[in-house]
Amino acid sequence: MKNNNKFCYFMKEVPSIAYFSMEIGLASDIPTYSGGLGVLAGDILYKAVDLEIPMVAVTLCYAAGYFYQMIGPYGDQISKNIRWQFSSNFDKLPIVIPIKIQGKEFKIGTWVYNIIGKRNGFVIPVFLLDSDVEGNEEWFKRITHTLYTAHPFMRIVQEAILGIGGVRLLEEMCFNKIKTYHLNEGHAAFVTFELLKKLKNLEEVKKKVIFTTHTPVPAGHERFDYNLVYDVLRDIVPENIKELAGNDNLNMTKLALNMTRYVNAVSKRHLEVTKNMFPEYKIDAITNGINIFRWLSPYIKELLDETMPEFRYDPQVLMNAPIELDSHDLWTAHKKSKDDLIDYQSSHSYVLFDSKILTVGFGRRFTSYKRPTLIFKDLDRLGKISKGKVQFLFAGKAHPMDNEGKYLIKQIYEFSNYLWDNYRVSVAFLENYDMDLARLMVAGCDLWLNTPLIDNEASGTSGMKAALNGTLNCSTLDGWWIEGYKMNKLAGWTICPGVEGNKCREDSDQAMSQAFYNILENEVIPTFYGERDLWIKRMKNAIFLASYFNCDRAVKEYASRAWNLEMQPRWRQKKGN
Ligand SMILES: *Cc1c(COP(=O)(O)O)cnc(C)c1O
Repeated sequence: MKNNNKFCYFMKEVPSIAYFSMEIGLASDIPTYSGGLGVLAGDILYKAVDLEIPMVAVTLCYAAGYFYQMIGPYGDQISKNIRWQFSSNFDKLPIVIPIKIQGKEFKIGTWVYNIIGKRNGFVIPVFLLDSDVEGNEEWFKRITHTLYTAHPFMRIVQEAILGIGGVRLLEEMCFNKIKTYHLNEGHAAFVTFELLKKLKNLEEVKKKVIFTTHTPVPAGHERFDYNLVYDVLRDIVPENIKELAGNDNLNMTKLALNMTRYVNAVSKRHLEVTKNMFPEYKIDAITNGINIFRWLSPYIKELLDETMPEFRYDPQVLMNAPIELDSHDLWTAHKKSKDDLIDYQSSHSYVLFDSKILTVGFGRRFTSYKRPTLIFKDLDRLGKISKGKVQFLFAGKAHPMDNEGKYLIKQIYEFSNYLWDNYRVSVAFLENYDMDLARLMVAGCDLWLNTPLIDNEASGTSGMKAALNGTLNCSTLDGWWIEGYKMNKLAGWTICPGVEGNKCREDSDQAMSQAFYNILENEVIPTFYGERDLWIKRMKNAIFLASYFNCDRAVKEYASRAWNLEMQPRWRQKKGN
């Protein structure tokens, strides 16, 4: 496949979209993701392949992955590098890309992981860039080893490899029909530097690039000191960079906003919040969705296959879940999911659970804004309400440099001791949250807790995974849940001491935790134990939400509004007759 000394990568259909993401959750045992952003990227690509969208993806190859989490005897997070032979998951390509960092030439190697569609063997290749190439200096070989290093120099080099190296790679492989470079979050914004060098015209660059922002708070927008930017990237930095990316430092979000033809936020509320931050831009909203086949418990899947098999190609039919699903069968399926979770839980924790007890779950990255300890604000009230009636299951990694996040985990360990000693209430923390554990938890818990600070969660997706499996949500009014609870009030509960429009009047931990206790005491517990039929009816209405919060819908929205693809006949739903 050599052509003018290029390694042309052959694909049956010439790709027109290149999706750039710092992390992609390809599979649970491929540790190239840290949380929702990467898992969503994987969900989207696995859906795009089934819709046969001509696409490739670019990310980095993290030899040491994101870390493996263990919890010490006193609740301290211990992180281990993952010993992982990625060469068993990825194929090496005979292609090396040059990149200049601090004026010196380095080489980037390339691996590929093929995402293969369920029908027709359609393929989306994911290219993983690797700095560990013979001849490179030792420090450079290690640059792509870990995901999300906290060191600004290492991060900017990683992002240069992703953006600049990524565009060059596609060029080298003769992908010369790319119409859309999709930046999934600002990390990939250096794509625009390489394109500008190539096309020499900002307007031409803009026509080719789109941007999905996932960060609702200014502090979350990645910034680099201009001294660092010039030192690392030198002559590829555009002359008018300060106009494009901010005066004080290089803001990756601003850069992306200024160099793209289309920008989207990931929920309706996130759009409002983003518009307030950047009023001068035109921004769209495409609410996130989950890939149903990656998140469905095997038992609920079996039930749906029996009752509404069309859901496989048209998830909109899940709207009929409340009328179609049999209560007894749904409860039986849920019990099986719950037994699987509790089997796993009891072999991985010294806190033993009872499968008859209402189980409340919280699983996601541990970081302050998600408020994982909100419900422990008043331990005695929680203990009294929960005694003999509720057990709590937590899981999630804190970034190794996030001391607050790690402290939150340690606190849960302490709260767990207090609640057991005083009320015999079980609070367990499971180690090493990943996609497999997420799958078990979202389906096996009865209630899924989501307590972000208002306007801090762009969307959130774990609650969508819970709803799909008939697990009821209990969430503050933020991200996707603002849309979810409006669509179906029976699908869960909203923790809010007083709604005003789309917002809560108060968001203090004090008020929010009391609102949660009230819901738990007056609604959740009485319904779960006293009105099982109503609980199951609510479960069916949770599944209803999956008719919309799935990525069949989301990817089709990207296809028509962001990627400008023609609606393909092969995407049309088969109408039963
Ligand atoms: C879905 C998922 C997330 C995202 O959870 P949020 O509720 O959106 O924060 C994070 N980590 C893993 C492993 C997931 O599967």
